[in-house]
Amino acid sequence: MLRLPPVAVLRPRSLPEALATLSCLPEPLILGGGTDLLVALKQGHGARSGGLLRLLSLGDLPLADLREEEGGWTLGAGVTLWDLERWHPPGPLSVISDAARQIAAPPIRSRATLGGNLCLDTRCFHYNQSTFWRSSRPACFKAGGEVCHVAPGGNRCFACHQADLPPVLIALGATACLQNSQAARTAPVEALYTGTGKTPLALARGELVTAVSIPRPPPRSGASWEKIRMRKGLDFAVASAAAYVETAPDGSCRLARVVLGAVGPGPLRVAEAEDAVRGRPLGADLLETVADAARRTARPMKNGDLPPAYRRQVAGVAAKRAVEKAWQLASAPR
Ligand SMILES: Cc1cc2nc3c(=O)[nH]c(=O)nc-3n(C[C@H](O)[C@H](O)[C@H](O)COP(=O)(O)OP(=O)(O)OC[C@H]3O[C@@H](n4cnc5c(N)ncnc54)[C@H](O)[C@@H]3O)c2cc1C
Repeated sequence: MLRLPPVAVLRPRSLPEALATLSCLPEPLILGGGTDLLVALKQGHGARSGGLLRLLSLGDLPLADLREEEGGWTLGAGVTLWDLERWHPPGPLSVISDAARQIAAPPIRSRATLGGNLCLDTRCFHYNQSTFWRSSRPACFKAGGEVCHVAPGGNRCFACHQADLPPVLIALGATACLQNSQAARTAPVEALYTGTGKTPLALARGELVTAVSIPRPPPRSGASWEKIRMRKGLDFAVASAAAYVETAPDGSCRLARVVLGAVGPGPLRVAEAEDAVRGRPLGADLLETVADAARRTARPMKNGDLPPAYRRQVAGVAAKRAVEKAWQLASAPR
């Protein structure tokens, strides 16, 4: 059995207290629901300097609001996936509930938070293992070493980004609210990801995601999420795609965003597909163009259960299905 190393859990009661505490910790470890972080700690990750680990819990902070505002919705980083799946927002935003419902399993969703999902670490077959399993070989880039077991001879980490909500929120044009003890800022959710496996998040030191704001979608818009995985009850995606489409009165596409998940070190915008559909009517040929563009954009590596070539094909299927469904929803009378 894997055991948690010795930890001290700090439970600040207010955001200023949390940010001040974070700024003083040499190795800040932020604890949302803990459904991923605690597993990683049990596997011996996260403890670069040894000794007692200090986890800063966000559990007592007032970050669990789902608020409707003039321009859209604001979701606190502490909202659980369980809350999100039972949330029934109108129109395209219901894609968030659909995606949340397909993450992990109910006991995990009851603890897991939106902030934790947005900040989920990248994953790799060779990294997400126990210390004992990993000790038979040199440490990889992600574990602080100088090799990659996925791409021997490679000069960087290819761990995969498999969090489900980021592609969906990027497709919806969402913005993240970020704060550390010095400043607060907002950034498009897309800008949170560096696209590198080793350090996947573009967060400043001591910075927390406090909320996500999603603009109110206009009439004639639709969004969809396609997650393809081995077991529907629990698994991470083999490949996934989120699509958001706005249509013109004649049914042609006015704006599209297509984002792939689980086939690269960060969420991947399929710009080629977005450009191809803009101004055009929906048709079978166009959907094939979307699938081709997604296959070209996907960057799967040999770091999961299934071969990269297969995951690339699956990414094409997911993108095609997502765009078709989003387009149909955008065209349906509301
Ligand atoms: C069996 C199993 C299956 C899973 N399947 C899926 C799946 O299909 N899809 C999926 O997306 N995930 C999956 N997960 C991963 C995980 O449960 C979810 O991603 C969950 O949303 C993580 O949220 P959390 O609050 O538990 O994060 P935590 O584990 O608490 O934290 C995750 C990371 O985010 C950081 N963090 C947390 N909150 C913040 C914040 N507000 N600001 C800055 N950093 C923060 C933490 O420091 C940590 O690095 C699975 C996990 C398990 C155990």
